[in-house]
Amino acid sequence: MSTQTSPVPTDFIRDIVDEDLRSGKHRAIVTRFPPEPNGYLHIGHAKSICLNFGIARQYGGICHLRFDDTNPSTEEVEYVESIQDDVRWLGFDWKDKRFYASDYFEKIHGYAVELIRRGKAYVCDLSTEEMRRSRGTFTEPGQPSPFRDRGVEENLDLFERMRKGEFPDGSRTLRAKIDMASPNMNLRDPVLYRIKRATHHRTGDKWCLYPMYDFAHPISDALEGITHSICTLEFEDHRPLYDWTLENGPAPCRPRQIEFARLNLTFTLMSKRKLLDLVEKNLVTGWDDPRLPTLRGMRRRGFTPEALRAFASHVGVTKFNSLTEMELLENFLRDDLNKRAPRRMAVLKPLKVVLENYPEGKVEELDAVNNPEDPSAGTRKVPFSRELFIEADDFRDPPPPKFFRLSPGREVRLRCAYFIKCERVVRDPKTGEPVELRCTYDPATRGGNAPDGRKVKATLHWVSAQTCVPAEVRLYDRLLSTPEPTEEDFTKSLNPRSLEVLQGCRLEPALTELPVGTTCQFERLGYFCPDSVDSKPGALVFNRALTLKDSWAKIESKTKA
Ligand code: ATP
Ligand code: MG
Repeated sequence: MSTQTSPVPTDFIRDIVDEDLRSGKHRAIVTRFPPEPNGYLHIGHAKSICLNFGIARQYGGICHLRFDDTNPSTEEVEYVESIQDDVRWLGFDWKDKRFYASDYFEKIHGYAVELIRRGKAYVCDLSTEEMRRSRGTFTEPGQPSPFRDRGVEENLDLFERMRKGEFPDGSRTLRAKIDMASPNMNLRDPVLYRIKRATHHRTGDKWCLYPMYDFAHPISDALEGITHSICTLEFEDHRPLYDWTLENGPAPCRPRQIEFARLNLTFTLMSKRKLLDLVEKNLVTGWDDPRLPTLRGMRRRGFTPEALRAFASHVGVTKFNSLTEMELLENFLRDDLNKRAPRRMAVLKPLKVVLENYPEGKVEELDAVNNPEDPSAGTRKVPFSRELFIEADDFRDPPPPKFFRLSPGREVRLRCAYFIKCERVVRDPKTGEPVELRCTYDPATRGGNAPDGRKVKATLHWVSAQTCVPAEVRLYDRLLSTPEPTEEDFTKSLNPRSLEVLQGCRLEPALTELPVGTTCQFERLGYFCPDSVDSKPGALVFNRALTLKDSWAKIESKTKA
């Protein structure tokens, strides 16, 4: 099984769309992505974005970006900006269709007034606590509110005075008059409006009355002419209320709500509340911490939009909640980067090599292949000289069994350069640790092959000591140490080794020119990108997006539904 996916996916939602177009129910498809601007987008949102924008694109329709900003206390302009930026980065475009639920406050209010006129809504004076107590349980019906049979005129008057700010917060609500005995708790006269004095990021202090999500959402959908309102499974029980709202009020059209299972991934967290908690407790460096599953964090870590889109398309949409393995996501990134990422050489834990038979002061420019998977990527020049650095882990004395890399008396290949042989080890007199390897090179092996056909068992990466550039490299690992947080307090499941910072790493000079936003392969080490926040000319910082290891084989058997 590979990470290749067919370009045109199909699923139960697309089947519905197909049928609606075939039957003539709709001539054009309109979807929407409705984030609440109370945090940064995460990989779960990416699934929803790819689905909503993907369907619109596939059927020649349009997907609206609608900020679901009905809850004034938690929303911020910063989030609105970042959400737009992240949707664009993922590769989608809402054209001129950017909306805010708050733009419809006046219309939603008018809709509520019309429901009152039709005898479908009433002002209720019960407190939150009284309302909770009279709602009943799953086995017992609720008790009708004593205010349920208020006359239309009185309701209109009270609702108007609620709007004018005559009553304190929480003292009255507007409720739908549906069915206090309904087996669906959402239909037991749900609250449509509450009094709440809070400054809204767009409407300021104009309103002290705010609509509930379940009321604002279907009306916003209908006002925008949405044909398919796609949301996650937890809204399935709310669908009867969605439909009730549209059937009983002056809705200009009848969008259809369709639910799908949200994305859950192992070793990470997807709730915005928990992510915010990590940010506020400084357990991560911010919303863009590369360990987070936020689009900001993943982008900073070196993920590509292509990999995220391919992943979303592969996991598809279903009606069943499941947990997807993090390895699956990582493999989509690995596949994408393997095809496209330029190869470079970097040494993370340097050990000095001196080639005793190489002339002092000489520098050769050797040709190195930029990407063996993509000949069009061409070659680059890599400087070679008498003093080099190799990876400390690539030398062992004495070599353990099955260790084929460098050790005293042994010959190895330096990638795109020469064969070298270790003649002598210089050790720290106190610790006994190797500090320098005295080696010789074979000038006849330029380019990495011996004319006499002799073989070596290892090829090492290296940099020239003279021309290499120092850098800090941050090695990221999983956010959580367990696939799913088991503790009540999820912060106890954080992986204490999620970040290791290496100083004094050495890069080949071409890496100074790697633009921010490009992820490359450090040969034999993994995929790395310049840190978009902290990397500066003269003080380079690289993030590890992924190691090279492919554990795909293990995944298939482990993916559980
Ligand atoms: P969270 O629980 O992380 O706070 P949310 O559902 O409250 O998420 P919204 O901003 O309301 O976040 O979500 C915008 C859209 O993204 C919604 O349509 C929602 O269903 C969808 N969405 C959110 N999380 C996921 C997920 N994990 N998988 C798929 N879709 C998601
Ligand atoms: Mg939400």
